Amino acid sequence: MQRLSLVFVLVLTATACRGQSTAPVTPVPSSTTTTTLVAVTATTTTTTTTTLPPTPTTIPQEPTADAAAPSPDRSIPSATRGAATIAVGGADLFEVIEDEPYVRAHEGLVFPVVGREGEWLELLNQCNDPSWVRFDEVAFTPGRVDPPAVGLGTDFADAVIVVDPGHGGSNIGAVGPAGLLEKEVNLDIARRIRDLLSAAHTVMWETGEILDGPAIPPVGQVWLTRAEGPDGADIESGLTFRTTISDSLNAHALVSIHNNAAPDGPFDGPGSEVYHKVTDPESKRLSGLLVEEMRRGFSVFEADWVGDDNAGAKVRVGTNGVDLYGILRQSDGPSVIVEGVYISNESEEALLDTPEFRQAYADAVYRALVRFVTSDDSGSGFVETEPFTGSLSSGRPARTCSVPTQPDG
Ligand SMILES: [Zn+2]
Repeated sequence: MQRLSLVFVLVLTATACRGQSTAPVTPVPSSTTTTTLVAVTATTTTTTTTTLPPTPTTIPQEPTADAAAPSPDRSIPSATRGAATIAVGGADLFEVIEDEPYVRAHEGLVFPVVGREGEWLELLNQCNDPSWVRFDEVAFTPGRVDPPAVGLGTDFADAVIVVDPGHGGSNIGAVGPAGLLEKEVNLDIARRIRDLLSAAHTVMWETGEILDGPAIPPVGQVWLTRAEGPDGADIESGLTFRTTISDSLNAHALVSIHNNAAPDGPFDGPGSEVYHKVTDPESKRLSGLLVEEMRRGFSVFEADWVGDDNAGAKVRVGTNGVDLYGILRQSDGPSVIVEGVYISNESEEALLDTPEFRQAYADAVYRALVRFVTSDDSGSGFVETEPFTGSLSSGRPARTCSVPTQPDG
């Protein structure tokens, strides 16, 4: 047991900016990790001191690296839907089969497969445009055939989870007063979630502590919607691309990771919000579980919390009564948008700048996903929401989108 101490010196330059929005995909998992709750003491004056209490297990400073690009498949798949990971060396994408390729896509990128013709797979690219690729230039993972059942008795090892790190590329998301970019924080948290899902754990449910252990097996598959390209995973992509990945895999859950801006005001605790689908009870259940787990995971930290008056698990609908957010409106299966804390608030931005808090965020999402898939827990924190009439800064289709290319040689 040791005590860690971090000191954050904040330059107090006020002005919280609001960000923008969209994001893309990376394949499968890796391993490791054990975590635990950490507590914090934050005092905001000109300096913010954050004291981290005893932590029984090691919190990784960085999530594990993405998996290397795979070898290509040589056998023709029978499935017509799933995900294609560009193999080592890249792959030509075609607008029309046998015509001229329009781009050599970067190895490691992941695309949803929506159809097949002979040895050609039909994809949707990051810019939401249909494309074709030869199957022997990708590694193909067929989508699940059965509907994604969840609840008591479901084996976590059978589950397929898609984690969507919000924003990416020129779509930076919200920006904290000290300059922290939402797109970077979201990606780091999403990778930590992937790492947790990829290994076996035992959860101490009374405390929320996550330990190495055999109780919960690695999840069947976990995919990130932002895959490694030439600029890392700092990739811009459209909403349809992201939801189609989840749909083509027939995933059990699509979890979009974000951090918030523009709160109503000071709040008595973490102002975590999760948006669920208007009409999907499983999406709603997942949102309630996420709110529960985030509240207990974040409450051990101290911050000058802010929030909306109706923070919690909720819907946001347009005047026509349908889900306002494309991620929720366009996806077939259970999906949610998680707004963990307020990056626009300097005190919460300081927390988001620490590996301890990012890990606590990932831990909370992990626990919620385990409960969602393997229990009938209903969650809590549901709030009434009135129709949304404001303007949105997030979720717009990418405007400068292009498919990351494979360099020659
Ligand atoms: Zn966002």
